[in-house]
Amino acid sequence: MRHTSDPYCIWIAEVIMQQTRINQGLPYYLNFIEAFPNVFSLASASENEVLNKWQGLGYYNRARNLQKAARYIVEQLGGEMPRDYEGLIGLKGVGKYTAAAIASFCYGEPVAAVDGNVSRVIARLFGVEEPINKSAGTKQIDALAGELLDRRDPGTHNQAMIDFGAMVCVPVSPLCRECPLSNHCVAYGSGRVDQFPVKIPKKKPVDRWIWFYIIICNGETLITRRGTDKIWKSLYQFPAEESEIPLSETGMMDRVTSLFQPLSPPALSLKKISPEIKHQLTHRTIYARFIHMEAEKWPVTLPSGWIKISLGQLDDFPVPRLINRYMESFNF
Ligand code: SF4
Repeated sequence: MRHTSDPYCIWIAEVIMQQTRINQGLPYYLNFIEAFPNVFSLASASENEVLNKWQGLGYYNRARNLQKAARYIVEQLGGEMPRDYEGLIGLKGVGKYTAAAIASFCYGEPVAAVDGNVSRVIARLFGVEEPINKSAGTKQIDALAGELLDRRDPGTHNQAMIDFGAMVCVPVSPLCRECPLSNHCVAYGSGRVDQFPVKIPKKKPVDRWIWFYIIICNGETLITRRGTDKIWKSLYQFPAEESEIPLSETGMMDRVTSLFQPLSPPALSLKKISPEIKHQLTHRTIYARFIHMEAEKWPVTLPSGWIKISLGQLDDFPVPRLINRYMESFNF
């Protein structure tokens, strides 16, 4: 995908690759580009269509931002991507790295593209003592990256730096003995390769327990849409209860029927409880269970915001990766 010079394709590829390895991200990229081959098709798609193609990648705000930026490009710029760093960085969700990558790869603009790979290389090469996840360290890395940049061919230079970090100066056990820069490398020369890059440890993720209730009646089930201020913003899910302390099977039937309040709940029978599934997000560790139940018949009215769909329609609604994986393993 890096063999293209189409700024739209590079933009999509860079956003997808921010969060995944190339072999995992490639099918998503191909699928996304097939569904939305240009900025016009992305701008005119519904949010659900875009999130569906993103399903499983996580970080759904990136997909939403891609679409907001696509709409801006179509409505305000006549469908033309900005052709320089300043214009690109003004797009929703486009950060310094992505703007520099597109500007240098597509337009030859002399700006250094600094991703995690490049930061690590520079931190080791120059022995940067400031944490690279704090602004003083970032500034130092950016300044050094700018000094190193080959201004005659910034696109090739940036690509080479990214590839060098991904293949030689890797996070664990870098290939220092074969490295052509070892004679100039502060970390290697001082025997402290394992101490660079310096990073401030991230906060420990918070534990959350979520039980999803898969209630089925005559080939239909219920889903709801999550709010906009929580994890998995605006994605769909089965009716669920969430807790900051472990949930227990004791009192579960009362709790699930209370989800229907103030309406009268249907008669429910328990069919199966999945094992606990641990799911790691950046700031949360989720412990989930899926509770399978059968309803004798649906209540005349459903709680506000609940949607009744056939099981065959489940694929039409973007859901969190945790639910998607469970549904795949369960073969709905
Ligand atoms: S010598 Fe080792 S740590 Fe230094 S740049 Fe080369 S691979 Fe990276």
